[in-house]
Amino acid sequence: MSEPLESNEHHRRRVLKALLWTTLVGGIFFGILNIFNGVWMLSALEGFYACVSLALLRIVDRTPRLRFWTLVYLLPFFSIMMAALLLTKTSYTVFAWIQTIPIICYLMLGLRIGSRVAAVFVILGLVAFNYRFTGHNSITDILVISNVALASLAMMLFSHIYERSRMDNERRLLELASTDSLTGLANRMKLSEVFAREQAHAQRNATPLALIFIDIDHFKYINDQHGHDTGDKALCHLGHVLNERLRSTDMLCRLGGEEFAVLLPNTSPKQAAELAESLRLRLQDSPLQLGEIRLTMTLSAGVAYLGRDGKSLDDLMRAADRRTYMAKRNGRNQVVSSDELTADNHV
Ligand code: GH3
Ligand code: MG
Ligand code: MG
Repeated sequence: MSEPLESNEHHRRRVLKALLWTTLVGGIFFGILNIFNGVWMLSALEGFYACVSLALLRIVDRTPRLRFWTLVYLLPFFSIMMAALLLTKTSYTVFAWIQTIPIICYLMLGLRIGSRVAAVFVILGLVAFNYRFTGHNSITDILVISNVALASLAMMLFSHIYERSRMDNERRLLELASTDSLTGLANRMKLSEVFAREQAHAQRNATPLALIFIDIDHFKYINDQHGHDTGDKALCHLGHVLNERLRSTDMLCRLGGEEFAVLLPNTSPKQAAELAESLRLRLQDSPLQLGEIRLTMTLSAGVAYLGRDGKSLDDLMRAADRRTYMAKRNGRNQVVSSDELTADNHV
């Protein structure tokens, strides 16, 4: 079974970890330097921040509330930058840290929240800088503040454009990676991902979850008789026909070749067997007309249920596949919903 793609959160966890190490080492280093420099207050803040970083490093790998802890970490971090800018003994070089705010925000918090937090702190940083290091209304002052403001704006803009196109590309790649290119249906990877979510939901809420495995009957014959292109059209036709019957919460996916699966959240065994049967009838009654050619397709299907047939997707696939094989052996164009072949399990 293919692995789901790494989530965005996984990357953010790694970036936060790198940042925590930076502020742990930086906090200790600058904390000690500032003792010698006589800036006690800043030194205490930096020491405190090194401790916060150490505490967060212990939970960053496993916390499910990553965004919350990121904000808990970033808001005081940026506030310390502001305090450092305002303290009389610090130098204007502290402003270099303000330039890191947009990059950190967009990387850690994404476009929506990142842009807001970055805008607030960059503006505050510029105001603090202006208050501390300009104020004589000379042309040099105007040049200095214009320079830092423009550089900050450029950083904001670059980070914004970068994050927006990164998100768009990621969305497009994820879509491509989880879609079957021929039929446009979800693929096996998408099924694994959605199954993991639905299985957790079903267990949490004690709701049923079913899976139908579908294999087209004598598909090789269609290819041999009418050509591969017609075979491809037949696969797309099946996708259309079956999808028309399914609810928006059901997921039809192409596993590969002429094999498909339908994941049915919130569906009892009886409902799933009935639905599989109605899919079978629908396909049989919806021939594909291609010019002169009229193709009638049939399918064999096996149904499996979470709990009764196992807990994992592999368990359900195995059971449903086994039942599909029974349907084939029993003459094809039928649904098998349990391992005992009785008159009513191939409905
Ligand atoms: P059965 O009723 O036992 O399932 O017979 P079948 O002919 O459907 O089964 P078999 O597994 O022997 O044949 C599957 C065929 O599907 C063989 C392969 O050439 C064809 N196939 C697999 N992928 C594609 C595809 O993307 N396009 C087309 N046109 N054919 C495909
Ligand atoms: Mg097959
Ligand atoms: Mg087949």
